[in-house]
Amino acid sequence: MTVRIWGARGSRPTPLRAEQVRSKISAVVQRIQQRDIVSPADRERFLGALPAWLFGTVGGNTACLEIIPRQGPTILIDAGSGIAELSASMGQRLKPTHEFHIFFTHFHYDHVQGLPFFGPAYNPRCSVHFYSPLPGIQATLSSHMQHPFFPVTMEEKMGGSLFFHQLKGQEVTIGSATVRYRELNHPGRGWGYRIEEAGSVFVHASDVELQESDFEKTAANSAFFANSDALILDTQYTLGEAIEKYNWGHSSFSLGVDFATAWSAKRLYLFHHEPLYDDAKLHKNLQLARWYAQRLGNLDLEVYLSEEGMEISL
Ligand SMILES: [Zn+2]
Ligand SMILES: [Zn+2]
Repeated sequence: MTVRIWGARGSRPTPLRAEQVRSKISAVVQRIQQRDIVSPADRERFLGALPAWLFGTVGGNTACLEIIPRQGPTILIDAGSGIAELSASMGQRLKPTHEFHIFFTHFHYDHVQGLPFFGPAYNPRCSVHFYSPLPGIQATLSSHMQHPFFPVTMEEKMGGSLFFHQLKGQEVTIGSATVRYRELNHPGRGWGYRIEEAGSVFVHASDVELQESDFEKTAANSAFFANSDALILDTQYTLGEAIEKYNWGHSSFSLGVDFATAWSAKRLYLFHHEPLYDDAKLHKNLQLARWYAQRLGNLDLEVYLSEEGMEISL
């Protein structure tokens, strides 16, 4: 399967501000030397050698992941503002009768706010299945898509075939993938998802404030968290901030490294980025997370920042 990231911010959308763009340009210009602009090849080499926080951005859209299984329909996790970008990008990829299966971790704004802009739900030839362990998913989703919050309602205008499913414990098979879920520690309740296909394991755990019980080697924890090829984890804060923001429902990147180590994840993707952290700060956290993994002696763990547009192959 392939996992594509359409939104990795937590809490609220965070577009780059003009002064941030100016400061990136200014920092790049200061690095240019005469030899970097002799030929187009020199220019490309120079640009390619720039640090990722200068020549890119993690993006500002809130949570949305697309999982493309080897066979079968498209799976999405959450409908934050990133789903609007996914929708705009579908173009030729949209099959004549495209089927989407959207699994919600929970219904906080940053995980549903893009749904009114999800074009395929308005397309009579598309079908969209919505899943949540919470009851009343249809009423919950349609309640924020009505006057005075939005000009049209789900019932009136979403002309695709919509199906609402409450998850009641059993795993779900979507094409060649199986989807399992478990509750995570988050205010108002939230769920993580484990998707397996052809021996590959993807675990999505966001939003979550990790607690001691998540590290216990119980059969239920092992069956859900252990041995993932890729783990996308809520690591919104530094450790200091996580302590200050106890009970806010999010984890620190350092605890995330401990958690990935405890459950033998191969790759850890830091996710649900704090809106107040700019690209430079997030990349600094990434370096610290990598340093910490080394100090723990976990030399096998690869750590990355989740970035908009990133594709994870499993
Ligand atoms: Zn969130
Ligand atoms: Zn939340």
